[in-house]
Amino acid sequence: MIVVMKPGATNDQIQHVIDLVREFGLKDHPIYGTDRTVIACIGDKRAVDKGALENAPMVEKIVPILAPYKMASREVRQERTEIPIGSGGATIGGVKVAVVAGPCAVESRDQLLEVAHAVKNAGATALRGGAWKPRTSPYAFQGMHEKGLKILAEAREQTGLAIVTEAMSADMVGLIDQYADVLQIGARNMQHYPLLEAVGKSKKPVLLKRGPSSTIEEFLLAAEYIINAGNPNVILCERGIRTFETYVRYTLPLTVVPELHEQTHLPVMVDPSHGTGHAHLVPPMCLAAVAAGADGLLIEVHHDPEHAVTDAAQQIDPRTFSAMMKHLRRVAEAVDREI
Ligand code: PEP
Ligand code: MN
Repeated sequence: MIVVMKPGATNDQIQHVIDLVREFGLKDHPIYGTDRTVIACIGDKRAVDKGALENAPMVEKIVPILAPYKMASREVRQERTEIPIGSGGATIGGVKVAVVAGPCAVESRDQLLEVAHAVKNAGATALRGGAWKPRTSPYAFQGMHEKGLKILAEAREQTGLAIVTEAMSADMVGLIDQYADVLQIGARNMQHYPLLEAVGKSKKPVLLKRGPSSTIEEFLLAAEYIINAGNPNVILCERGIRTFETYVRYTLPLTVVPELHEQTHLPVMVDPSHGTGHAHLVPPMCLAAVAAGADGLLIEVHHDPEHAVTDAAQQIDPRTFSAMMKHLRRVAEAVDREI
């Protein structure tokens, strides 16, 4: 349930309600909006004396949260959540559409720095690059690991771009946290609950990718795991789902974007690279995603896609990226956004 405070409630009055909620054995999650504060209360409501809460000073009302995901739900927060990424002032979830671009994998220092400068010059918001790669085959390139993280950190130093990189297991989170600005949870790990709890304990924002066979409800419940573990800064990313279609690598359901905006206050990104699997489909789907209301894009860019070690077919080159950014600015403007 949610305790809705009246506008103008003081910190002491809010704290008083929190103390009562804790006395009833519930977990409190205060959400401070521009207009009013609400306190989401999670746990067994049977022991709660609703009258005591309703009568507390400056409490306006108590309402149940109907969605199975609680803190991720629009019911607890009407306003969209804007999340800072890195320390350079970039955010996701505001008017500006965040463009996170870079190679699928960090392959070498030269490769990453070249792509980092190219995407920066074209107007990217942040740099992506996997140091650990979740590969279908155990014999495929698995990533440069900590060396890759050090190269990403150097690219951040040179370009000022925030770094987005993937953590694949809970015991990796501590190390990746030392380098990354945003922790990425890959599609295969969307329901890896100990990992979700581990990134939930981090102070860094988490970019959570939708599992290719997961429903929207399962996706939002995965986000709820992270928030419930203490980290409210979850960015959702649609990256395509499995269907009967074989022409594309995955099917990219852009209806998810406006639907997620209905269901949750969290920012929504789209990854047209994995969502299509083909470089020529990436720019049009980037434009479509922004038109549909995406708060950000995750795009694989490689300086020499033909020779990319991973995901060669779907990485676009810096020239294509730069040309696409020009079109993207016009689409963004048409839907009252900025790039
Ligand atoms: C990635 O973005 O690097 C990646 C591996 O994507 P996904 O987890 O969506 O397959
Ligand atoms: Mn990839």
